[in-house]
Amino acid sequence: PTGKSMPLHTKILVGLVVGAVLGLALKLTLGAEHEAVKVLNRYVAGPLGQIFLRLLFMVVIPLVFASIALGVASLGDLKRVGRIGLKTLVFFFVTMLISASIGLGLVQLLRPGTRISPETRTELMATYASDAASKVVASQQSTFGIETFVSIIPRNPVASAANLDLLGIIFFGIIFGVALTMIHPERARPMIGVLEALNDIVIKIVEIAMKLAPIGVGALVFGVTSRFGWALLKPLAVYVVVVLTGLLLHTIITFPLILRFMVGLSPVTFFSRVKAALVTAFSTSSSNATLPTSIAVVEQNLGVPSKVVGFVLPLGATMNMNGTSLFEGVTVIFLAQAFGVTLDVGQQALIMLMAVITALGAAGVPGGSIPLLVGVLAMFGVPGEGIALILGVDRILDMSRTVVNVAGDQVAALYIAKSEGLWTAASVPPAGVQAGAG
Ligand code: ASP
Repeated sequence: PTGKSMPLHTKILVGLVVGAVLGLALKLTLGAEHEAVKVLNRYVAGPLGQIFLRLLFMVVIPLVFASIALGVASLGDLKRVGRIGLKTLVFFFVTMLISASIGLGLVQLLRPGTRISPETRTELMATYASDAASKVVASQQSTFGIETFVSIIPRNPVASAANLDLLGIIFFGIIFGVALTMIHPERARPMIGVLEALNDIVIKIVEIAMKLAPIGVGALVFGVTSRFGWALLKPLAVYVVVVLTGLLLHTIITFPLILRFMVGLSPVTFFSRVKAALVTAFSTSSSNATLPTSIAVVEQNLGVPSKVVGFVLPLGATMNMNGTSLFEGVTVIFLAQAFGVTLDVGQQALIMLMAVITALGAAGVPGGSIPLLVGVLAMFGVPGEGIALILGVDRILDMSRTVVNVAGDQVAALYIAKSEGLWTAASVPPAGVQAGAG
């Protein structure tokens, strides 16, 4: 295919392979210490990779603020739906916490990031820890106590933004959104418009940055392989296996258990009725793009009333991301292991919570969680360059986690309908009248 018709993710993959192979070739022939390799890294690969990373860093604060404030403000409407709204949110939160826990368990069991020699790790940290963002966070306290909770409340939100203090910005966004729903609607409307525009704009900037991803990822991977050779490729492969296994476990254990015991629907029937939407999710990597198909199959193939579907699925497409929270938790811990950043139990719990909160805030578009992930990495002192390691393999993970995100929304819709007495297994129409099949 020509450069024009090649989809972005293919280009990223090409960039990754070219960067990795060039870097490996130089490392194996000239060696990492050769002058030419150093010059290439210093003046070509280094700056190109940094430009790409900085574009992503740049949007983290406005993106988190706008998406959280807007999300909370839109929950203002939930007051109308009241109890159902609350129940839906709790269901989202709990299922995301379960998926993140599965990820945490697996990544601690297989420890992909520790399959790196101590020398490589020291070198990794020495190479990348000069990154400005990790410097900021290194100064943050690592103990977990009552002060941690108090210090979440920022004294100065602008300082939080400047220090990439995500929790502070999230707190400010939440309270901003809550207050927004409490003022006169006439007055609130322009602010909501501004936040919506801000949100669209930063997502656009991410899109622009992603256009540079083939070059950025290539350059970053070149930097890694020309310095470290094969040393990092095996841990990366194990990391991919961990994420995919976690997603699979959540899909074949958590969802079926909920369906059987809380919904009363055979998992086999469920998956066979929604498969058109899951295939769409896999091929588009976007919960938003999958929403129309998802609404169609849940309404028509599973017989869930449209008032539940029309409420739970759109909300779920932007907020409920079971796959993304698992992915984020695993990724942060994998990279922390790789860079030798030690995390105590409290910090791991905080990572899970952040995985859930940032998954709530992530946009349902391809790679929607990446900028937030960059922010969480910085928060725990893991160099942002770490995402260079994973971006090259992210497309397949993105496709897979989006399937789990969408399935999670559908399970939520069924659960809400069932628990409100609006649906039973008898509501499922007989096979043969299926929408979205094919
Ligand atoms: N692509 C995912 C979705 O649309 C979001 C992400 O995890 O990047 O659900």
